[in-house]
Amino acid sequence: MTEAALQIEARPSQVYVALYDRLPHPGLGTVQEFALDIGISASAPIVLTDVVWRVFDENDHVSLVRQRLGEAAMEELTRGQFGVAPGLGLVLPRCYFLEQGAQPLSRLRISVAGFEAATRVGVSASLDVPLVYPQQRAKIHLPFADGTWWAITGNDWTSPHKAEPVSWPFAYDFVRLGAEGRTFAGDGRSNLDHYSFGQPVTAPAGGKIVLVRDDMPDQAPGEALDADAIADDPTRLAGNVVVIGHGYSEFSYLAHLQAGSITVEEGQMVKRGEQVAAVGNSGHSPGPHLHYHFQEGPSLFVDRGVPVQFYNFKAVGDLVERATIPSRMIVNPA
Ligand SMILES: [Zn+2]
Repeated sequence: MTEAALQIEARPSQVYVALYDRLPHPGLGTVQEFALDIGISASAPIVLTDVVWRVFDENDHVSLVRQRLGEAAMEELTRGQFGVAPGLGLVLPRCYFLEQGAQPLSRLRISVAGFEAATRVGVSASLDVPLVYPQQRAKIHLPFADGTWWAITGNDWTSPHKAEPVSWPFAYDFVRLGAEGRTFAGDGRSNLDHYSFGQPVTAPAGGKIVLVRDDMPDQAPGEALDADAIADDPTRLAGNVVVIGHGYSEFSYLAHLQAGSITVEEGQMVKRGEQVAAVGNSGHSPGPHLHYHFQEGPSLFVDRGVPVQFYNFKAVGDLVERATIPSRMIVNPA
């Protein structure tokens, strides 16, 4: 038995860290976060005893340690499987890390230990995952012409988008608020009751339209997406989409767009502020809203999502030159 019997894989293999040192509210301290899926495979049945994560800073000092040791921890971590079966492996999904402060981080070391079930010979393995910070080039603005919008999930540590750690960990969902501070009038059972539905979606920065999908119907609010509608293409969860390439491997992904509302074609150039579609409720969407995220390429669930800062917007009435928008912030285009 050698250590090669255990193997660790990270997805993505290099992980973006979101550094929130620019938040439009003085009460929010600096934090950093990242998320990834970890896969463990073995050439013989292995019983796991330890999984340890260490985050190193740029001076190679350990800045955060998380360890899961012993039988009870392994039972919870492996959902009762305790070990790794050959040909099957073990996935530790959505491993999520949050760190206070602005000290730059350099790598995550994942260490796994256990013993071979048949011989009880100890085995271990470790993997270093590089942690990187994005250098945003495009001046991204809110993708709306006007109105008051609520970031129901935002680019921060509370977002359910972290469940998909490749393209979506830093995604936003925006809904428009009416004058009375609600998201819809009436009982909300019709898309037309929702203030978001049909609102213009504008290019957040200039660029080229690299992807359009416009064949998905709008769902009724609360209606589950039919599995047949996804067919064998999970990117259909995003409904109708427009993807804009801004250059330097920076792409804006605008999703759940209204059926029939897309006014641009693939290959077309757009200017910032130009309307490209309207807010809809297509794909896997609980109600009318705009999903927006920034990613490294045009392919959903393949290209990595990137933390994004917005330029020139208003947050709770104050003008902000450039900042991350955290979850639950109410914002307006400036
Ligand atoms: Zn979303």
